[in-house]
Amino acid sequence: RQRVALARAMMLNPKVLVADEPTSALDVSIQAQVLNLFMDLQEEFNTAYVFISHNLSVVRHVADEVLVMYLGRPVEMGPKALIYSRPLHPYTQALLSATPTLHPDPTKPKIKLTGELPNPLSPPSGCAFHQRCPYATERCGVEQPPLRLLDARQVACHHAETING
Ligand code: SF4
Repeated sequence: RQRVALARAMMLNPKVLVADEPTSALDVSIQAQVLNLFMDLQEEFNTAYVFISHNLSVVRHVADEVLVMYLGRPVEMGPKALIYSRPLHPYTQALLSATPTLHPDPTKPKIKLTGELPNPLSPPSGCAFHQRCPYATERCGVEQPPLRLLDARQVACHHAETING
């Protein structure tokens, strides 16, 4: 069914295709086939994808540019290689720390987020992540951090420089 959905979308020869969790309901072997089909079609038709996924391994496989969102707000955006090798936002760091890898780095401590995900319909004031962020300060609770350029990507955190030394 996903292949048929993809074929139907590509028949219109779109410049941009939005794919919302296109592999989340598939088992791993079919997932790989569908991802490869996405990539083959992209190469053939030069289509841009906005590929939405909770699976960071899948994102790593398909993406050139990555946008990480928390409660509907962008927190970090930039080239895949940079985001995966040196995430700057505490939420991106926690997400990547929770993603299984073939060769985990034993020197990197696991980051465990505490607290519940707030209601997205009524997000917290200031930085939406402040109730769960280990680095939150008073400022974080009142002032929403804008996306700003840092180390060749955009990051929305008041203390990104301090946190990342
Ligand atoms: S702005 Fe504050 S609460 Fe938000 S991610 Fe940065 S340090 Fe944490």
